[in-house]
Amino acid sequence: MARAEPSDVTFSQGGRMLFYLVSPNETSFSDVGAVPRYVEQATPFFVGLLLLEVFVGWLKTGNLLFKVNDGTTSLSAGMISRLPNLFVRSLEVSSYIYVWNNFRILELPWDSAWTWWLAFLGVDFGYYWVHRCSHELNILWAAHQVHHSSEYYNLSTALRQSVTQQCASWVFYLPMALLVPPSVFAVHIQFNLLYQFWIHTELISDLGPLEWILNTPSHHRVHHGRNLYCIDKNYGGTLIIWDRLFGTFAPEGDKVVYGLTHPINTFEILYVQFHYYTYLWQQFVNANGIAHKLSVIFKGPSWEPGKPRLGDHENVPKMLSQTTLLLMAGYILLTLTCLGCIIDQRPAVALLETARCVFMIGLHSLGFINPGASLLALATRVFGGLSALYWAVQILRQPSVETKCH
Ligand SMILES: [Zn+2]
Ligand SMILES: [Zn+2]
Repeated sequence: MARAEPSDVTFSQGGRMLFYLVSPNETSFSDVGAVPRYVEQATPFFVGLLLLEVFVGWLKTGNLLFKVNDGTTSLSAGMISRLPNLFVRSLEVSSYIYVWNNFRILELPWDSAWTWWLAFLGVDFGYYWVHRCSHELNILWAAHQVHHSSEYYNLSTALRQSVTQQCASWVFYLPMALLVPPSVFAVHIQFNLLYQFWIHTELISDLGPLEWILNTPSHHRVHHGRNLYCIDKNYGGTLIIWDRLFGTFAPEGDKVVYGLTHPINTFEILYVQFHYYTYLWQQFVNANGIAHKLSVIFKGPSWEPGKPRLGDHENVPKMLSQTTLLLMAGYILLTLTCLGCIIDQRPAVALLETARCVFMIGLHSLGFINPGASLLALATRVFGGLSALYWAVQILRQPSVETKCH
């Protein structure tokens, strides 16, 4: 039998799918191989809405809502987090197919609207628990904190996703694989993610009765807040009803302050993605006794000995200094310029890379960026030093080449 190929979405579908405005008819497939890569195909629509938000925000407030350094970090995180999916099917879908093939107890028809709606609810319910556990279990928070590490709240924040999140999220959807066909699941797992793009904006205030059942920009602003009333609230993906049912709902009140209660002071993309694992390991090593060690991994990120499971949230918010912000923005621009030069294979790359490595070692040594674990700090300096040396030798070996980089 010929293998089904995924089809392309039309322009109209592309626009509507960001809001889950698609019908079961146009999004039902008999074979999971025929399910379009909706998330990848949404990229131009993401860009369009990002630009629209910047423009409307500028008209409304006279300010640029998008900060280049923060936005760049978010977009890079978005790209890195989808990289594995270019080569392999997501862990969520592959594990789902395995359970369906081996353990299904019932085969719901793939072409029934009932199955489609059941899968819509099932995926959203699963997402609520994935998300709630990602906040309440420190080991899962290590992945999810990436999404919350921006101190701004705009559409680019939506793209700031974790590479490691799906290492745990797949478990939560497996019960559905006992009866809902993989082709239906593979559609909804994508739309559930896509829906969450447009709610990351400050430009939409209140949506009236829609606020009762749907997850909206207002509800999700609360989720991203570090004000006391916002912490551990509004976990919903598409619907807000799960939060209302399970007691985790909070309406928007005082002006929300965004970001982590302990900001990470950096825009380095790999650090943003992985630093929490080294922090968690240190906490684990330092904890006394097996009970405390297990608590470090499986209780909330704010837990401490003698505190309740989720800790108490009396931490005072801190902000990045202006100097650190400027230096980091400069470093990111230099990194992106170097990347461009490497891709274009320009000779100037040797000089720029040397400068970038020296700049990075300088930032580390002067304490403007702090990689947490001392081993990581040492590794950064050693590899930074070796890279600087390597590129410096490259300059010496090519004394006659032109060093212009446009
Ligand atoms: Zn979250
Ligand atoms: Zn979010």
